[in-house]
Amino acid sequence: MRIVKPLETMMLFAEGSVALVTGGSRGIGRAVALDLAREGAHVVVNYARSEADAEEVVALIGKEGGSATAVRADVTDEAEVRRMFQGVRADHGRLDVLVTSAGITLDRYLVAMSLAQFREPIDTNVTGTFLTCREALRIMQHQRRGAIVTVSSTSGLDGGFPGQTNYVASKGAIIAFTQALSNEAAPHGIRANVVAPGFVSTDMTRKVPAKIRKDYETRIRLGRMGRPEEIATIVSFLASDKASYMSGAVVVAHGGGLG
Ligand code: NAP
Repeated sequence: MRIVKPLETMMLFAEGSVALVTGGSRGIGRAVALDLAREGAHVVVNYARSEADAEEVVALIGKEGGSATAVRADVTDEAEVRRMFQGVRADHGRLDVLVTSAGITLDRYLVAMSLAQFREPIDTNVTGTFLTCREALRIMQHQRRGAIVTVSSTSGLDGGFPGQTNYVASKGAIIAFTQALSNEAAPHGIRANVVAPGFVSTDMTRKVPAKIRKDYETRIRLGRMGRPEEIATIVSFLASDKASYMSGAVVVAHGGGLG
């Protein structure tokens, strides 16, 4: 006899679970927010500038029968980040999942890069990860439970392409940061893992000059760029109890890499 499970038990997250996705308004973060909501979590969709996009994500989740709210906070701003997490604590009293997808590139050849241009991606990508993980930990340690997924890049492992020293440094730092965080957080029942995508079709990669993008794309062994949804399913898995023995891992999703 075939046992048919009720729908709720097939979702990755129990009712009442709360997830916060930084940079949830666009690209990979947007897809992550949608996937986490489909898997049963209430999702706090963080954004810095794209309010309309964030509200659209919230509306879409609502239309699909899920639950979400949009919250503006620049992840580089300590006070704004703190307020956002205070809001989560006040509204929900818990936080089960943090996904740090907020990120920027600012490509320049190193010889022409100003100090400010070097610092900008480091600030958003690394300081933003630090500030949000710190606030998340403060909630999760009380619960003695939680899962953090940071978003790095294969460029943090292989050096990326020319003109990205600032971005690559930030993405390498996210990997090291998350592994150190995993060591600290594990005794508190909190897991922290990294997803490292290759080339994914979003606004970020649409900014890359067409010729470079095309060259790169044809070298990807699976023959195409990734879709944000293909990263989101990995993030949801890592954030869920299905990955209960994974912490400090770097999961690469790059279509087989470059040939
Ligand atoms: P995207 O489409 O450009 O989206 C970037 C997101 O980050 C937006 O939601 C943006 O929100 C948010 N953001 C930027 N600065 C922020 C800040 N200071 N505070 C809060 N949110 C901020 O980029 P994406 O391709 O989805 O990239 C998402 C993450 O994946 C990044 O960390 C990126 O490094 C990583 N990644 C991307 C690729 C790829 O090929 N696309 C590959 C590897 C890794 P607002 O618009 O509201 O500012």
